Amino acid sequence: MKTESSLTQKPRFIRWHEQQLYQSFAWLISCLLAGFLFVSIIEFVGLQSSGLLLIGTLVALYLIGIAIIELFRRFWIRFAYAQACASAATCKTCSTYGQFEVIPGTRPIYARCQKCDHQWVIGGDHDVSQ
Ligand SMILES: [Zn+2]
Repeated sequence: MKTESSLTQKPRFIRWHEQQLYQSFAWLISCLLAGFLFVSIIEFVGLQSSGLLLIGTLVALYLIGIAIIELFRRFWIRFAYAQACASAATCKTCSTYGQFEVIPGTRPIYARCQKCDHQWVIGGDHDVSQ
């Protein structure tokens, strides 16, 4: 039996999905900040210098460029996974969206509808109850 406080709480999947989006956008913001750093180094240090300063600048730009690619990759993987899970979070039996709990850090997500007890797997292609 559900109490009033449990009804007013967000279902766990929706909270999990929000956390995934927040974390993915934190990666995206980090990526943008690294991009600003990249452009700032080119603007303020420039590539017209010579010798050790030029080598140091190029090494710094190379490392920041690698970091930008990695940060964007992390953003995209987390964002795409969260969106794919959200698109499969509707119960096929009762059409309730996101009414199940998620064990953090597990893949695939084993979902059991809190309304009708239908079970399915998100991130896999099979339905547990069938
Ligand atoms: Zn259901």
